[in-house]
Amino acid sequence: EQRSPADPLTALLDRVRVRLRDLDDGEPASYIPELSRVDPDLFGLSLCALDGQVYGSGDTRVPFTVQSVSKPFVFALALADRGLPEVLARVGAEPSGEAFNSIRLEPGTGRPPNPMVNAGAIVTSSLVAGDTPEARSTRILDGLAAFAGRPLDIDEAVYASERATGDRNRALAYLMHNAGWLTGDVEEQLGVYFRQCSVLVTCDDLAVMHATLAGGGVNPVTGRRVVAPRHAQHVLAVMATCGMYDASGQWMLKVGMPAKSGVSGAIGVALPGQFGIGVFSPPLEEKGNSVRGIAACHLLSDQFGLHLMRAV
Ligand code: GLU
Repeated sequence: EQRSPADPLTALLDRVRVRLRDLDDGEPASYIPELSRVDPDLFGLSLCALDGQVYGSGDTRVPFTVQSVSKPFVFALALADRGLPEVLARVGAEPSGEAFNSIRLEPGTGRPPNPMVNAGAIVTSSLVAGDTPEARSTRILDGLAAFAGRPLDIDEAVYASERATGDRNRALAYLMHNAGWLTGDVEEQLGVYFRQCSVLVTCDDLAVMHATLAGGGVNPVTGRRVVAPRHAQHVLAVMATCGMYDASGQWMLKVGMPAKSGVSGAIGVALPGQFGIGVFSPPLEEKGNSVRGIAACHLLSDQFGLHLMRAV
């Protein structure tokens, strides 16, 4: 349960949200047709502390599709199921400096650059345990639910919309299949990836999911261990270098916390040992990050000295 508006942390989140709600730059993503139907004024900001307390302001319980914010969590599940060496043998850990849907793979090998861009995420979702695509989809949905601490559903309309228009991801998947990084039936594996992107979450869920990573893999609300501490650490490290598309360097410079954004307008942030944050506001800047989401995280980081590289 969220705290009451009188709580100081809730009041603070309210102040940040009210200060930024009139920022009206950017547009919701439209390359997935179903995503463009969203209300651009939705704006929620949640924080989950490691004692399991959730604080929030605005539209914190409105569901939206998780999109690329699923990527760190599915990477965590692949690590749990296969271990780091086996996962790294199939997907790199270097920032690509290119757009999330870039067709460029590692020169020479054709290996995907990292698990936070589409190419790498298509491979990591194929590495999650399960003998069939259905079994892998179930493992992913149950795994995301364990991070969120509640059962989650899939938005079938967004799934159908992505599947119908996802030719760029399809092209990437076929290239990686040809180079041997993606095995099995390509179309079926794409289905697993599109379903993972279409899982419905709220801002509160994102805060709890990121608090689970920040707490070394234990969900602070349910008390349940979801992944091992070293796997949570691996995920945060890759988020820190690759999580914000080709704005990851600027983000680390200015905000200084591991984060992941998605084209639905979601941003999840984890401050190791401290808390998780979820922000949702659909209009995106040119790189695909939520405009108000970025602004909210800048403000929080600056005002409270949250930057990880801060010495004093
Ligand atoms: N489902 C989206 C895609 O594959 C995810 C992109 C994103 O959120 O970055 O294009």
